[in-house]
Amino acid sequence: MVMSNHKSTLEEPIKEVKFLKNYINGEWIPSKSELSVDVINPALMKVIAKVPRSNAEDVDLAVKAAREAFPGWRRTTPIARSRYLFRLKNLMEENFEEISRIGTMEHGKTIDESRGETRRGIENVEVATGIPSLMMGYNLEDISRGIDEYVIRQPIGVFACIAPFNFPWMVPLWFLPSAIATGNTYILKPSSETPVSMTKLYELIDEVGFPPGVVNMVHGGREVVSAILKHPDVKGVSFVGSTPVGRDVIYKEGAAHGKRIQAQCGAKNFFIVMPDAKVDKTISSIMTSFYGNTGQRCLSGANLLIVGDEKFYEEIMNKVKENAKKIRIGFGLDESVQMGPLRSPDKKKRVLGYIDKGIEEGAKLTLDGRNYKLTDDYPDDCYLGPSIFEEVTKDMVIAKDEIFGPIMSVIKVKNLDEAIEMINDCPFGNSAMVFTSDGGVARKFQYETEAGNIGINIGIVAPMAFFPFSGMKDSFFGDLHGQGRDAINFFTEKKVVIVRWF
Ligand code: NAD
Repeated sequence: MVMSNHKSTLEEPIKEVKFLKNYINGEWIPSKSELSVDVINPALMKVIAKVPRSNAEDVDLAVKAAREAFPGWRRTTPIARSRYLFRLKNLMEENFEEISRIGTMEHGKTIDESRGETRRGIENVEVATGIPSLMMGYNLEDISRGIDEYVIRQPIGVFACIAPFNFPWMVPLWFLPSAIATGNTYILKPSSETPVSMTKLYELIDEVGFPPGVVNMVHGGREVVSAILKHPDVKGVSFVGSTPVGRDVIYKEGAAHGKRIQAQCGAKNFFIVMPDAKVDKTISSIMTSFYGNTGQRCLSGANLLIVGDEKFYEEIMNKVKENAKKIRIGFGLDESVQMGPLRSPDKKKRVLGYIDKGIEEGAKLTLDGRNYKLTDDYPDDCYLGPSIFEEVTKDMVIAKDEIFGPIMSVIKVKNLDEAIEMINDCPFGNSAMVFTSDGGVARKFQYETEAGNIGINIGIVAPMAFFPFSGMKDSFFGDLHGQGRDAINFFTEKKVVIVRWF
C-alpha cells in the first residue's frame, strides 16, 4: 500500500484505526465472528477502521433485542417518539462538520459533497419529527345510521435496512427515522465499505438514550443480509444498492419469506439538451450531474443526448470539455478539490474496463480520464479523471450498462421523440433530465418518459425528504418507495374499525 505525505487543509476526524462493534440493545458489542475487513480512505489508501463480518448469531441477537423493545416502543406516544428525534437532530447539527469529514474520509467525496449529504440526512429526521400528524388515520361518521368507520395506522414490528456504499450517511436516514417514528424497531446493516459515518450516527443515537433495542446496527456483508431476509421476526426490509442484488436476492428472497420489501436499485440516467436550452446553466448542471460524487450516484448523468445542429453540438461539447479539464482532483478534505477518487481500486479497475470497452466498440474517447493530474502526490490507486466518449451509439455497452464512474457517453439525436424512445428502451428507469426553455417540450418529456425521477432544467433529481424516491422498472422492486407518505405506508399497517355506538 502506498502512503502519502499529503497536506490536507481540514483536520481529519478519524485519529486511530478502530475495530468497529455492533450496536445491539443499547450497547456496543463485539461481533461473534472473528472475521473482519479493512475500511480504507481511498484518497490516501490508508486503513481508517476495521469492520467485522458479523454472522447469523449477531443478527439473532439484534432481532431479539428489537422484537423485545417493540411492545414498549409502540406504546410510547407519537409525540414522545418525536422528542427523541428532535434530540437526535440537535446532536446531528452539533456534529455536522465532523460527520461530513468522516464521510469524505470513508468514501472519498469532496467535503462540500459530504456536507450536502449530511444535510440531506438530517432533513429526513426533521420530517419524521412530524409523525403525530403524518401517522394520522381518517374517519367517516354515519356510514350507516349510528355507525362510524375509521382507519388507524399501526406499527408492524422489526424492520431492517441494507445500505449501499455511495451515500453511507444519507441512505440509511431515508428509512430509519420514519421507521422508528411510526413505532417500529430497527436494525441497520451499513455497507462494509463505508461503515464509519453510521458508527458516528449510532454514537449520537446512544447519546440520545433511546430505549434499548429500539435502534440496532449489525455490520457485515451477505451473511448478515441472508440472516435478516430469512429471520421470521423481521417484518420488512429496505434495500438500496445494485440491481442484481436488489432484484435477485433482496426482493426474491425477502418476498419468499413474507416480508415487506422496498428495493431501490441501479440506474443509467439520460441528460437531454434541447437546442433552446440556456447554455451556461446547462453546462454547470452537466458538470455536477456527470462528475459530482465522481459519478457514483444513482442519479448521476451517464448518457448525454444532444438535439440540434452541428454548431450547437460543438458549442455544448467544447464548453463541457473545457470545464471538465479544469476539475481539480484529490483528497476531499482539501477544500479546493472538486472531485475525489473512486471508492476502491476494484471500482477503478471496473470503470477502466468500460473505457477499454468503449474504445473497442468504436466510440471516440475525446477526453481521457486516465491522464488525470492530482492536486498533491496522493497514491493513484483509486483516482480517475473525467472522461468523455463521443460518437456513441445506443447499442454500445457503454451506453447501456451502469458504469458508476466519471464517464460521459455523448449521443447525437435528431429530436425529442428519438431521445424519449432511447430512454424508454433502457431497462433501468431511475431518472431522466431535459434542459429546454420550451414548456411544451418539458410537458411532453414529463408525460412520456419512463423514469421515476424527472428533471426539468435540473441535473440531479434528488427528491426532498417529504417526497418519495421513485425509481421505475429495474431501478425499483417492491411494495412502496422510501420517504414521504410512501414511508408512512410502508412502515405501518392500516386497520379498519367500524363502531356502532349503543
Ligand atoms: P451493492 O448491491 O453491491 O451493495 C448494497 C448492499 O447489499 C451492501 O450493504 C452489501 O453488503 C449488500 N450486498 C452486496 N452483495 C450482496 C449479495 N450478493 N447478497 C446479499 N447482500 C449483498 O451496491 P453498492 O455497490 O454498495 O452501491 C451502488 C449501487 O447502489 C449502484 O447500483 C447504485 O445505482 C445503487 N444506488 C441506488 C440508489 C437508489 O435510490 N436507486 C441510491 C444509491 C445507490
